[in-house]
Amino acid sequence: MAKLTVNDLDVRGKRVFVRVDYNVPMEEKDGQMVINDATRIKETLPTLDLLINKGAKIILAAHLGRPKGQREPSMSLRPVAAKLADMINRPVAFVDDCIGEKVENTVGALKEGDVLLLENVRYYNEEEANDAAFAEKLAKVADIYVNDAFGAAHRAHASTEGVARIVAKRGGKCAAGLLMERELKFLGDELETPASPFVVILGGAKVSDKIKVIDRLLEKADTILIGGAMAYTFKLANGFKTGKSLVEADKTDVALAAIAKAAKRGVKFLLPTDNIVATPQETGKLNKKGKPVFEFVNPRVLAEANIPDAEEGFDIGPATAATYAEVIRSAKTILWNGPMGMFEDKRFAEGTNVVARAVVEATQKNGAKSIIGGGDSVKALNVAGLGDKVTFMSTGGGASLEFLEGSALPGVAALSDK
Ligand code: AMP
Repeated sequence: MAKLTVNDLDVRGKRVFVRVDYNVPMEEKDGQMVINDATRIKETLPTLDLLINKGAKIILAAHLGRPKGQREPSMSLRPVAAKLADMINRPVAFVDDCIGEKVENTVGALKEGDVLLLENVRYYNEEEANDAAFAEKLAKVADIYVNDAFGAAHRAHASTEGVARIVAKRGGKCAAGLLMERELKFLGDELETPASPFVVILGGAKVSDKIKVIDRLLEKADTILIGGAMAYTFKLANGFKTGKSLVEADKTDVALAAIAKAAKRGVKFLLPTDNIVATPQETGKLNKKGKPVFEFVNPRVLAEANIPDAEEGFDIGPATAATYAEVIRSAKTILWNGPMGMFEDKRFAEGTNVVARAVVEATQKNGAKSIIGGGDSVKALNVAGLGDKVTFMSTGGGASLEFLEGSALPGVAALSDK
């Protein structure tokens, strides 16, 4: 059932507790923590503008990093309050705690349209434990609950789930923010009855991470294009040689079951026919975890599907990329999750870039709806400067995958129905 959204609420003069995703990348510069990328803050502005204009008293709660219940100064949200104030052009109050008297007093002094950011909720272990007493303390300042943190909605934590349950029990409304609403629309409603041809592009490291998504999308897709390291597990299952490529040898049965399901349902299931391979060589160095660091030498196009023993596959080859691009250009609905190769290294980014350009072309010229399911494919599109040329890019990583699998997200389930 559709969830209530901030648009449905009467918030004037009410204390609105808003869970946002301000888990922004930060870096220490001259002894101060500086925000490297404010996208996540920017993404909440439509919801904040709406609440400010409607005269709410806004209390923002978020987590930053993994302080594991400690008051870790480098994970304070204070710099985020300053950045947000700049972005909305009005003061943002900050309290160095998320519960207790100081919070209650500050909230008591808020006027209509005022904004307060609370300190990192993960300074308390009770947050991730979804501790009922802690959630009660957070809920003390909330008449209404709004969740705009899609990226954290797959976790049943106190600020993402517990507070909502308490507010609802008191008869208060719990609603999706505008960002959350868009996520539910594109990853949910739009994919329920996608316009055909519906092309699903899946890549990334592991079959095991995405098998539930594959299984679900096999019910709806016309074509599934597989890339990334996970393609090699499928190739192994089909009897090809995969050399030193990243494979999950214990997942070949799962891979074969997906291929069989695709055949039974008449879904075209495409695997790479050529690859970019390179030879891994030990550098003699160890990484932070004490594991040997490799460099990858002699990258080359391997025009056949079997990969020699000494080499490793790092990207789909040009013939595969061209075939995938042609399929994508004729799509009316596209869902993309996961890069086609180890795109962080430019030598292995071309497959991902060809796919990205085809997705953009389908969107711009063919009127296709293109939905990018979070994580590294969003990063790849942004690096290629194409982020604003697709229909929708999810802000969730784990949350997007779980939602696409068809799992109920605790942070969404706790919101009031329309
Ligand atoms: P995921 O989080 O599952 O979407 O996986 C993304 C990661 O998979 C990225 O960091 C890629 O570098 C990595 N990746 C994709 N293809 C390959 C490959 N062929 N070999 C090694 N890593 C890969």
